[in-house]
Amino acid sequence: GTRVHFEDRSVDTLCPYCGVGCQTTVHVKDDKILYIDGRDGPANQNRLCVKGRFGWDYIYNPQRLTKPLIRRDDAPKRWDDQVDPMNPSTHFREATWEEALDRAAGGLKKVYEETGPAGLAGFGSAKGSNEEAYLFQKLIRTAFHTNNVDHCTRLCHASSVAALMEGIGSGAVTAPFTAAKDSDCMIIIGARPAQNHPVAATFLKNAAKRGAKIVVMDPRGQQMNRYAYKHLQFKPGRDVALLNAMIHTIIEEGLTDQQYIQAHTSGFEELKTMVQDFSPEAMEEVCGIDAASIRDVARLYARSERSIIFWGMGISQHVHGTDNARCLIALTMITGQIGRPGTGLHPLRGQNNVQGASDAGLIPMVFPDYKSVETEEVRKGYEEFWGTELDPKRGLTVVEIVDAIIAGQIKGMYIMGENPAMSDPDQAHARKALAKLEHLVVQDIFMTETAWHADVILPASAHAEKWGSFTNTNREVQVARPVAPPPGEARQDWELIQDLANRLGLNWTYSHPSDVFTEMVEVMPSLKNISWARLVREDAVTYPVDGPDIPGNEILFAEGFPTSDGRAKIVPAGLVPPDELPDDNYPLVLTTGRMLEHWHTGAMTRRASVLDTLEPEAIASLNPRQLSMMGLVAGDSVKVSTRRGEIALAVRADRDVPEGMVFIPFCFNEAAANMLTNPQLDPFGKIPEFKFCAAKVEKIEAF
Ligand code: SF4
Repeated sequence: GTRVHFEDRSVDTLCPYCGVGCQTTVHVKDDKILYIDGRDGPANQNRLCVKGRFGWDYIYNPQRLTKPLIRRDDAPKRWDDQVDPMNPSTHFREATWEEALDRAAGGLKKVYEETGPAGLAGFGSAKGSNEEAYLFQKLIRTAFHTNNVDHCTRLCHASSVAALMEGIGSGAVTAPFTAAKDSDCMIIIGARPAQNHPVAATFLKNAAKRGAKIVVMDPRGQQMNRYAYKHLQFKPGRDVALLNAMIHTIIEEGLTDQQYIQAHTSGFEELKTMVQDFSPEAMEEVCGIDAASIRDVARLYARSERSIIFWGMGISQHVHGTDNARCLIALTMITGQIGRPGTGLHPLRGQNNVQGASDAGLIPMVFPDYKSVETEEVRKGYEEFWGTELDPKRGLTVVEIVDAIIAGQIKGMYIMGENPAMSDPDQAHARKALAKLEHLVVQDIFMTETAWHADVILPASAHAEKWGSFTNTNREVQVARPVAPPPGEARQDWELIQDLANRLGLNWTYSHPSDVFTEMVEVMPSLKNISWARLVREDAVTYPVDGPDIPGNEILFAEGFPTSDGRAKIVPAGLVPPDELPDDNYPLVLTTGRMLEHWHTGAMTRRASVLDTLEPEAIASLNPRQLSMMGLVAGDSVKVSTRRGEIALAVRADRDVPEGMVFIPFCFNEAAANMLTNPQLDPFGKIPEFKFCAAKVEKIEAF
């Protein structure tokens, strides 16, 4: 049919949701969005998923924050079912910007004077731009002189990055997902791209139609199975058993690439010793996959001309998350499946800027570009560049910061665009910590569950209301343009960070995000040859890039690795069980994750009318047989409990969920899955075990 175009302008920008980084054209009339189309970006080639196409009207939600707010002296610091996001006046009063910013900075300064740098911390966000991430960590590091600055990458790919940095000296993908077009074999493990990276999934599906073989490894079934050569539905938490059995097969059957191993790796002998006892036959029981299938998939991966591995949170969100990723790196290295078209390692990034926010230094151990805060030479360089003394010790991570608040060590926080009251594990504990803070400044667009704990709330701008660069999962730096002004008195995030910085004794004079980007290019070699003008002109530039006029390098590491000896380090991993196994009291395995229509804690998508209409209700998914064994039918109300808390919600029958498991998305605040999750951390990546804990499901009367 013919589409009636009655917009008065259209703006080329980006989708605000996932790490795929789809380019969009937003059609606007009178500063209001009419509809959104996909644009011909490198990652989406005109395609969009349901979130990118229909999930935009949250920016007009009447719950948008439009005035600075200050907590009333008599109001409790907590979110509960009773608070009304349309009426924050029960807990807050409106203030002028002057008063709110003075109060925000004053409270942080007081904590600094009383407790010193160790008393403060900041959470930035992977939903913000590169420039916002850079400024945020710069403020925490140069005004508070602490490295206690982190963001939600800690909860998603921290363990993958730990393993990648250790193994190949670089935390980013070695090849874009569009490399699928050249692949013969694709392993998808612990990822559900059709739901969580839907447009990336289309490239994988197309490759399968061309004849490439997809192997899905996932304790749950999923949509990609329709395109798969095989689905290995292994037991949850047994990744290392399965992957080591594949490595064992490849070594035993002489399918390794000895030339590659000798030229480009170290640690092969240790790996060989480690996997000796991991024969597929010995691992059958442990991981739940028959030995013949393990051997078949190992042979397929090793023998294919070009094999690539995609992974997600199913790998990373475990106490053995780093070990899981180490096994994937080992698989790649012993077969030389890297550095050529159609090969490589690709951790699928979740948020639209999780790559960029990490690159920009929103991490407690490193300055921008992953330069260790503990290396004196590096620190001296940054001290000179930023003109102040810096903290020589690594800072605390997300969950460690929460624990440090409870312990009385951290007393003041600045949180920009993050929602730890929903996203952190063991939420009762996390919310208790937020309530305990002497001074909390929250900068956001809605009254999030976290904002209810704040002393000062600074209303900020949504993605569609600002300039900024964002780096997607493919290492493509792309530019977003403003579509509409922020509502009411809400302001730009970068301006708010600057206003606070200047009240905290810094002297910042940026006048546009482009100034910030220019400073980043000066100090971050990864961004060399990418100017703001080039971004605006070309819309997307892949880093690293060797010249100002040539395209970036999509496929990395054809000639060795950026490690101290130029070799990839193979690190063997033994079997570490999940922290909390099912028992008589809590007989099921609880796993959490996302759903196609909703995004993370739901702050945006649950306020987007189309998306919330499609998935309006908190649900727990169980296998139909499990339901009937428990005397339940779909739609019944249940209580799901763990050692940390309980929630009430409805059950859904889902054949993709194996018996013995319950799956709950973490986006519903009326039944917050993270009330239940286990905060136990992976020792290397410091990521909590969201993907596995022991749970109980009981029928209750409708609530
Ligand atoms: Fe947006 Fe990701 Fe969907 Fe693309 S695939 S439209 S980036 S949510």
